[in-house]
Amino acid sequence: MSRSAHPAGPRHADVLPEGHYSAPPADLNALDHKVWAQTVGRGADGVVTVGGVDVKTLAEEHGTPAYILDEADFRARARAWRTAFGADADVFYAGKAFLSRAVVRWLHEEGLNLDVCSGGELATALSAGMPAERIAFHGNNKSQDEIRRAIEAGVGRIVLDSFQEIVRVAHIAQSLGTRQKVQIRITVGVEAHTHEFIATAHEDQKFGIPLAGGQAAEAVRRALQLDGLELIGIHSHIGSQIFDMSGFEVAAHRVVGLLKDIRDEHGVELPEVDLGGGLGIAYTSDDDPREPHEIAKALTEIVTRECEAAKLRTPRISVEPGRAIVGPTAFTLYEVGTVKPLDGLRTYVSVDGGMSDNIRTALYDAEYSVALVSRASSAEPMLARVVGKHCESGDIVVKDAFLPADLAPGDLIAVPATGAYCRSMASNYNHVLRPPVVAVKDGEARVIVRRETEEDLLRLDVG
Ligand SMILES: *Cc1c(COP(=O)(O)O)cnc(C)c1O
Repeated sequence: MSRSAHPAGPRHADVLPEGHYSAPPADLNALDHKVWAQTVGRGADGVVTVGGVDVKTLAEEHGTPAYILDEADFRARARAWRTAFGADADVFYAGKAFLSRAVVRWLHEEGLNLDVCSGGELATALSAGMPAERIAFHGNNKSQDEIRRAIEAGVGRIVLDSFQEIVRVAHIAQSLGTRQKVQIRITVGVEAHTHEFIATAHEDQKFGIPLAGGQAAEAVRRALQLDGLELIGIHSHIGSQIFDMSGFEVAAHRVVGLLKDIRDEHGVELPEVDLGGGLGIAYTSDDDPREPHEIAKALTEIVTRECEAAKLRTPRISVEPGRAIVGPTAFTLYEVGTVKPLDGLRTYVSVDGGMSDNIRTALYDAEYSVALVSRASSAEPMLARVVGKHCESGDIVVKDAFLPADLAPGDLIAVPATGAYCRSMASNYNHVLRPPVVAVKDGEARVIVRRETEEDLLRLDVG
């Protein structure tokens, strides 16, 4: 869809519901478990519950908007990844998807490692007791200070992202009298989006060192020469919200090709390969994500096969799922404010949050689902657009969705699959206060990130 300006008046594409929203679902009260957290259900009274707590109680006690996170589901998904990959591989949860101290503890308890990409994420991880050797430090522009703190903390690996960083990290490690374990992030020329991938010779992006033109090989040459570095492997991350495994197949093929070249040139077999994250989740009922055990099997087979063909020992594999673990575990609970029917078009349903708590729709044209959760309804479906309260017409949370036509101010609606990249990308636009994250489990709700207050806002504003 074009993002460019257009003359006043609705465009055809904006008026007609797109794709799968062309027909309303058979039952507006149904909650598809592909999209909703595992313990979500609708009680006999029509009120939705999660972790044994109903959403009306959650709204009364914690206010709206709020991110409601199903802790049992988070742990189950983390464990499923861990189990699927087994003892010969490592699962690094990508902290940028959503990070808090409670999450760090759950990950630690479930045996996962953690990716961080800033000093703030590193501080959160360390303060919640994640052992430093289980932390990987990422980023295309780590500051000298961040690099120093990561090395001093003893992080298990730093993922080098540029030629300059190879020298920078080597120098800082040496000045601290240590040798830092590192991987080199390469770009293999695979661009993956949801249902398709494109294999190219070059990648035009800020991350990593291109395999093309022998640049990755040159980076390896330099890293192997520097005393401050212990090169343990090659890293590749090809995209996000991917369903199609063939992109990983091409990436693994190219990574193993580099491992072979390294062996031939330097007589060194690097012990690790990291294939990154990016595995997709269901935002709507049309999405069909793979299970962790299928993904683990596919990735392990690809790497093993490629290594056998190249006569290399199979390296230890690591993966970095973020969205696939936390994404489905939370929903955003909103209270309906203004309901504005536009004749012949759609009904605009305004909620008490918006692009400040979910920027993905505005940023990526992302699709979401939505349901009325404070009661069941037998009213006719109405075509709705869920919008926020910000001073911006692009402030859309759910672009096209069907909600019951009797929807009214004060009803609670929920947008599922907002566990990843919503709270972590939340902003204070319009001085709106960022919502809390409330974890529910076994009939109890616990705030793990509290709601921002006006005092918080004013504390930063030193006048
Ligand atoms: C963002 C990112 C991930 C996680 O991506 P998801 O889509 O959340 O799985 C993993 N590794 C790297 C290097 C990333 O940048």
